[in-house]
Amino acid sequence: MEPLVKIDSLKKYYRIEKGLIKKKTINVKAVDNVDLEILRGETFGLVGESGSGKTTVARLLLNFTGPTENTIYFDGVDIFNCSSSELSQLRKRIGVVFQDPAASLNPRSTIYDTLRRPLEVNNVDKSEIDSIINEIIGQVNLGKELLSRYPHQLSGGQQQRVSVARAIILKPDFLVLDEPTSALDISVQAQVLNLLLDIQKKYKMTYLFISHNLSVVRYISDRIGVMYLGKIVEIGSVDQIYKNTLHPYTVGLLTSEPALSPRERDRNKLILEGEAPSMMVDIKGCNLANRCPFKQDICDIDEPKLIEVEKGHKAACHFAGELEFKY
Ligand code: ADP
Ligand code: MG
Repeated sequence: MEPLVKIDSLKKYYRIEKGLIKKKTINVKAVDNVDLEILRGETFGLVGESGSGKTTVARLLLNFTGPTENTIYFDGVDIFNCSSSELSQLRKRIGVVFQDPAASLNPRSTIYDTLRRPLEVNNVDKSEIDSIINEIIGQVNLGKELLSRYPHQLSGGQQQRVSVARAIILKPDFLVLDEPTSALDISVQAQVLNLLLDIQKKYKMTYLFISHNLSVVRYISDRIGVMYLGKIVEIGSVDQIYKNTLHPYTVGLLTSEPALSPRERDRNKLILEGEAPSMMVDIKGCNLANRCPFKQDICDIDEPKLIEVEKGHKAACHFAGELEFKY
């Protein structure tokens, strides 16, 4: 079967003016030649440090911004070259939850009004609106008494449940979740993750789940893509990524997180030296070369392509499959 989402050599460069007197225009390569497919019914986790381009991928998928080059297909439709009626159909099929619930809910609208709006905009029959809202608020495990309240009267976890309710109220088949639990207390994070898992099962939805936190992504995803400086550096199933890690960047990300189990506590860390280079410089070879302990001469010369090392498991490293990591 065709994947639900097909991202095809996608590029999004932002042009920035630098310098006060001699103005120079510089490209920030927020998304640089990204290829990926999201399969129907799966949760695809997109992970990487802050600034790696994850939110830009999400904003492109939602058609909030256009690409510099190439495109995205949703269920076979080219989302940047389709008719306005196709686009409004697509909008109904794609829901979104952002990181900060307080910022994404209107402070002057009650929860009831927040949930009613998408139904009204999409001409849902007035007689059905209340029953849909009551069903959805139960679905996200909130009491009906919250419907008359305003966002500031809710806890962060409750606010994010409202955001989830709003995102699924038109029964989309695809949800973009951009760091949906990152602003929440640890104890509440797990509840919201479990809610998202329940909803996915019940409505058979496909998820793009974005996070800078590998353990969160591991918990919820079927497959994972690791991003670094606008590029996918490794992609594979959760087991492939964790048990047979191919890219030094992924190992660095994995071992820099606090250990969850005692067994993991004395694992070796792979330290990536220094800092990520600025997005504004053009790098000739591998983006990770200046930080990678395995660097060879070729890494400064040739850009590594994503190559398949085992079925469904790809990495963009000249030595993918040859390096031994102890972690
Ligand atoms: P992430 O979500 O992984 O933290 P983003 O997609 O937000 O990363 O950002 C990727 C890069 O693109 C960053 O260097 C960021 O500064 C830059 N960027 C994002 N949005 C804009 C914009 N509107 N204008 C200029 N640069 C941007
Ligand atoms: Mg982001």
